[in-house]
Amino acid sequence: MGIAENVKVVKERIERACERSGRSPDEITLIAVSKTHPPEAIREAVEAGIEHIGENRVQEAVSKYEVLSDLPVTWHMIGHLQRNKVKHALRIFDVIHSVDRDALVEELEKRASKVGKVIPVLIEVNVAEEETKHGVFVEDAPDLVKKVLSCKHLNPIGLMTVAPYVEDPEEVRWVFKTLRELRDRINRELGEEVLKELSMGMSNDFEVAIEEGATMVRIGTAIFGERKY
Ligand SMILES: *Cc1c(COP(=O)(O)O)cnc(C)c1O
Repeated sequence: MGIAENVKVVKERIERACERSGRSPDEITLIAVSKTHPPEAIREAVEAGIEHIGENRVQEAVSKYEVLSDLPVTWHMIGHLQRNKVKHALRIFDVIHSVDRDALVEELEKRASKVGKVIPVLIEVNVAEEETKHGVFVEDAPDLVKKVLSCKHLNPIGLMTVAPYVEDPEEVRWVFKTLRELRDRINRELGEEVLKELSMGMSNDFEVAIEEGATMVRIGTAIFGERKY
């Protein structure tokens, strides 16, 4: 199947998951994750109605952005962000999903203030405490959110997680539920709904994530096919 057909199928699956859980598809931002795929594939996806693109490496994203900056899309940084790449990241990305440590918050604030921008960010949480994954543990998330809140040039909009890869997505439902409960708890502590977004759900598990409250799903393989490397 081609990219356009894949986009259509994914959107239909999102709609059905919303129906099952009494939600509106308008609540869900579909982010097409194009890592390893060429700029032409991104153009094709945008022609098929995609408005949000996710990339996980700054260098790779910069080289694609150079030939795609005319596209009317929002660029999302979803991968681990090194401090020395922050400057370039802020040049092209509109939203950063992978804020996971104090030092990164400080660098983002410093660079965002230099260019006079306010950057929407999400805190990445390693809910399942996997050693191979990035993200703060659940108990450390509230403090990191508060640190971001204290930064004038950063706007904390939500939480993000990558669930462990499993054959049956029902096995990771608890991960998504935990992230939603954490968001609600932090909002209660802050006394206002600061965190609106839950960036959770990938090709293999996005329907379960939507049932548990996802507002942003990050879909690669189901739109672009298997990764190129
Ligand atoms: C690659 C990636 C995705 C998309 O994964 P698929 O399984 O191909 O849908 C989503 N989120 C992050 C953080 C990724 O690195």
